[in-house]
Amino acid sequence: MTLVLSFALPYWMGYFLDGWLGPIFIAGWELDDTLQCVMTCSLAAGAVVLLYRNFFLDREIKQRKIVEARLQASEERYASLANTLLVGVFCADASGQVVYVNPHYCKIVGMPAASVARNGWSQALHPDDRERVLTAWFQTIQTDQPFDMEYRFVHADGTVRWVYGQCIAERDPYGQVSGYIGTLTDISDRKRSEESLKQSEAHYRALINALPDLIMRVNRAGIYLEFLASPEFQVLGNLTDWVGLYISHQLPSDLAKQRLEAIQKALESQSIQIYEQTLSIDGHQQIEQVRVVPYSHDEVLMLVQDITEQRQSELALQQSETHNQAILKAIPDLMFRVGADGCYREFISEPRNFSLFHNTTLTGQHMNDLLSPELAARQLNYLRKTLQTGDVQIYEQQIQNGDCHQYEEVRVVRSGPDEVLFMIRDISDRVNAEERLKHDMYHDDLTGLPNRSLLMERLALALKRTKRRPQTQFAVLFLDLDNFKVVNDSLGHLVGDELLLKVSTQLKLLTRETDLAARLGGDEFVLLLEEINDVSEAVMVAERILKTLQVPIKVGNHKVFSSASIGIVLRSEAHKHPTDLLRDADSAMYWAKHNGRARYAIFSPDMHQQAMKRLQIENDLRKALDNKEFVLYYQPIVDLETLKIKGFESLIRWRHPQRGLVFPNEFIDISEDTGLIIPIGQWILHQACRQLAVWQAQFPDHDLSISVNLSVKQLQTSLLQELEAVMTQYGLRQNSLILEITESMLVENVEAMHDLLNQIRAQGICLSIDDFGTGYSSLRYLHQLPVNALKIDRAFVNLTKQDTRNQVIAESVIALSNLLQLSTVAEGIETLEQCQWLKMLGCSLGQGFLFSQPVPTKQATELLKQGLTQQIEGTELLPLLI
Ligand code: C2E
Ligand code: CA
Ligand code: CA
Repeated sequence: MTLVLSFALPYWMGYFLDGWLGPIFIAGWELDDTLQCVMTCSLAAGAVVLLYRNFFLDREIKQRKIVEARLQASEERYASLANTLLVGVFCADASGQVVYVNPHYCKIVGMPAASVARNGWSQALHPDDRERVLTAWFQTIQTDQPFDMEYRFVHADGTVRWVYGQCIAERDPYGQVSGYIGTLTDISDRKRSEESLKQSEAHYRALINALPDLIMRVNRAGIYLEFLASPEFQVLGNLTDWVGLYISHQLPSDLAKQRLEAIQKALESQSIQIYEQTLSIDGHQQIEQVRVVPYSHDEVLMLVQDITEQRQSELALQQSETHNQAILKAIPDLMFRVGADGCYREFISEPRNFSLFHNTTLTGQHMNDLLSPELAARQLNYLRKTLQTGDVQIYEQQIQNGDCHQYEEVRVVRSGPDEVLFMIRDISDRVNAEERLKHDMYHDDLTGLPNRSLLMERLALALKRTKRRPQTQFAVLFLDLDNFKVVNDSLGHLVGDELLLKVSTQLKLLTRETDLAARLGGDEFVLLLEEINDVSEAVMVAERILKTLQVPIKVGNHKVFSSASIGIVLRSEAHKHPTDLLRDADSAMYWAKHNGRARYAIFSPDMHQQAMKRLQIENDLRKALDNKEFVLYYQPIVDLETLKIKGFESLIRWRHPQRGLVFPNEFIDISEDTGLIIPIGQWILHQACRQLAVWQAQFPDHDLSISVNLSVKQLQTSLLQELEAVMTQYGLRQNSLILEITESMLVENVEAMHDLLNQIRAQGICLSIDDFGTGYSSLRYLHQLPVNALKIDRAFVNLTKQDTRNQVIAESVIALSNLLQLSTVAEGIETLEQCQWLKMLGCSLGQGFLFSQPVPTKQATELLKQGLTQQIEGTELLPLLI
């Protein structure tokens, strides 16, 4: 029986077994190709061992050769392998000193092999990694641990190379460390891509975090899978808790349904779905934009963004845009932009009243093609000016728009480096109103004639012209209707107005184109006659006017005789201002009026004197009342039968500080004109009544009365209160105060006057009609009026005049007066004859120088005390009188 053990042993095991095991069957084989198999059997130890030894000797020699060859081949193979490897290879001795590096190693660290061997491999280590690498390396050497790490080298070309270094110890057959062998792999590329991956991940994260959106991953069923970002949505709490929940969690069902639909749609169409939804959170409306992005076949990314503010500002913008549109529409200006080339660029607003421009096709057209040459030239001119200067240009223009003129205000503003904005406003209304206003300002409402303002301007112009051309001459005619007041008062204002209108028409007809007929107001007219040679031409015009006015003018149903007084002035060196001319023409007119009316007068410096005097009086009058310069004189009214004083007429006098005693005919008119008659009249009434009260107390038997003259201006309702006040203040007897009013005062507004007079009568005050017979008699009213007496005017008492007509009037007035049971007072009795005649006619009372002049209070009291008989005594008339 043969036991065969077979096992693999290194060839040197043969020696060992040869010496010690003796006759043991050994079977072995080498895996080697040279020695295939050894088999021994224990037949005869000596022979076998020899055989065996011989066998081994042969084999050993053969083996060594093979080994050497193999070694060399292997070394060469290794060397060429190491040289061609794309991995750095290095070998170090047991002390760690590098003894070999392959070319790739050199390539990686950028050092020649010699330099590595000489200077050491660590010199190229990256400074940041140096410590770490060397520590590990020494550890490897000391502790026999393998070296395995990533670190950097700084390549000779300056670039940094990431490497993966590995190293293990090499041991000799006895297990001692004989050196180290390691590899170096360039992992720079991997590191770089790792780095960029890391970076892109960071970017992505930052991006996600920066997104205002709530980003979540949701699956087809509507289950939250992940929340990638949830900025601003903190209100919802910790969203990670929601993972796994359905989207209907905390979302109103309709909105959840909408989301789910969008998810399905996105997955089906594999396209992004975008929609908006509004939800209310804590009472606030939040508008969200939801974007559903397909992520996989079963999942979507859902991006939810709060766009409330955006929508709100969009809305605000939209609102402000409609607002702007509305404003633009409301702007009455035509606005358009025009390029420097004169072509229309845009029509911004086109209000109705610019008919030409209601056509947007005009854009692009040139101004020359659209506007009249003149208008286009003007607008282009302003366009250039605006572009050059940059200043806003404003001008006005007049446009023919159909039949009417349109006035426009144009503003040209530079709106860009090569364009301007035209803003055109229709200002026709304003201009027309201004023109109307100007016309109204310069013309008289009633007659349409130029008024005082225009006259003054024309006079100023005329003065200027004659200054330049002294040979030219002009005249001014001042015309005042003589009886206008009477017409106005008796026939009413309407008739008065019509008369003025007719007169003004005639004046226009009588003047030349170059002349000017103006109305100053009331019944005063002024004619400016330009370019005349001498005064005779002005006189001719005046005469023509007077002649025309001789023909009665038909006004309504009436025929009115209207004469005028005309003052003429020829410009002279003395006339510096328009007012100088008017003043002198007025003075001449005044003269004409006071010298018989219905005539003209040519101004002379003398008239100016008179006018000045009048002016002086006016000024002085204003101070007279305060200065107590007025005084009342009293003229007795006598019973013609008994020659007893029945009363007095109070007559005012002015003790002028320079001029002495001034009579009423010099200042009553003026005080009426200036309105001063009102305060003066009050003073008179008080003064006269106080005096009467004194006399009534002093001479109770006389049954005295006082006659006070009233001016028409005093006939107002306030008079009643005044009268009542004086009557009670002075305790006058009934019917002892007599007011004298003239006929002409009565014609104005008979009805109202009737009432007033009745009320006066009701206060126990008598009324007497003064200067009876001189005015436009209102005999037909006489019996209706509540008057007590008539005073026959002095003119009719004058017997010296040959004119018997006056005497007849006196006779009939007395007869009428008696018939109406009125008492009659004859004024201006100067002679005995007159007195007897009047007595004979049945006149009961008289007044005149025959009895007494008007006298101051003291003398009047004296007359009362002594009686008139003494006064007349000595004239030997007394017996005749009584
Ligand atoms: P009258 O009311 O007709 O006054 C009568 C005028 O005749 C007075 O003139 C008087 O002096 C004057 N006279 C009286 N007897 C004779 C006479 O025998 N012969 C002549 N030739 N004249 C005589 P007097 O005082 O100058 O007043 C003139 C006018 O002034 C008055 O006319 C009256 O209208 C007005 N007047 C006078 N005093 C007042 C007054 O106190 N108030 C108002 N409103 N007017 C007054
Ligand atoms: Ca009188
Ligand atoms: Ca009188």
